[in-house]
Amino acid sequence: MFEYTLKRSRRRKTVAIKVHQQAVTVYAPIGVAKKELESWLLSKTDWINVQITKQSQQLDTRQYPLKNNRVVVFDDVVQLTFAVSNRSHWLLVKNQPVTTLQLSISGRVKHQQLMYQTLLETFLHEQLESYIEMRVNDYCLKMAEALPSSIRIQTYKRRWGSCNRRRELTFNLLLVSAPQYIIDYVIVHELAHLKYLNHSAPFWLRVSEFYPNYKQATKWLKQHGSSLQWVFD
Ligand SMILES: [Zn+2]
Repeated sequence: MFEYTLKRSRRRKTVAIKVHQQAVTVYAPIGVAKKELESWLLSKTDWINVQITKQSQQLDTRQYPLKNNRVVVFDDVVQLTFAVSNRSHWLLVKNQPVTTLQLSISGRVKHQQLMYQTLLETFLHEQLESYIEMRVNDYCLKMAEALPSSIRIQTYKRRWGSCNRRRELTFNLLLVSAPQYIIDYVIVHELAHLKYLNHSAPFWLRVSEFYPNYKQATKWLKQHGSSLQWVFD
């Protein structure tokens, strides 16, 4: 189930959904019961996901400036260095006190800045993906849940993860800059949706069973979520 803002109005006769900047707003008449509304919304999940994916592709992630040449990976600061080499690749050097990520691109590349950023994005994608895959395995065992059918990483503006009827999970690439215990919360949240595709009381009970501090984690995401960016001043 996806997150949405519900706006009820006396004058409204029908239910409508609007997806703008990846945020879902639902307009409904006063009288419609929440349960009824959510089951209707569930039937619209695919359509909503298509809209959000379209809008995420319109986001130009390459506009992130490489200020100070630092990036946050799982709450750790990583210093970036840039090099020209005979092929494009990255190298992570875990040194005390600072970890360094060396981004190397071919000297023949035309748009070098863009190439460095693409390489950085690939690196971050891989870091997050391997962490999530490992933790999904762990939690599926703990929760006695079958593995999801797929796991994808995408850049979203306003959601941390999603889950649908086909057991496909997605996670926001920006999570790579969050502490791992916060990523774990998002994983447990989405895995709990495999059983309950809503935010009902049984759903939250299942979340709390495997992630007791979930309230603290949601608070953290509310407070720090908007500042999660790979590169900062
Ligand atoms: Zn949810």
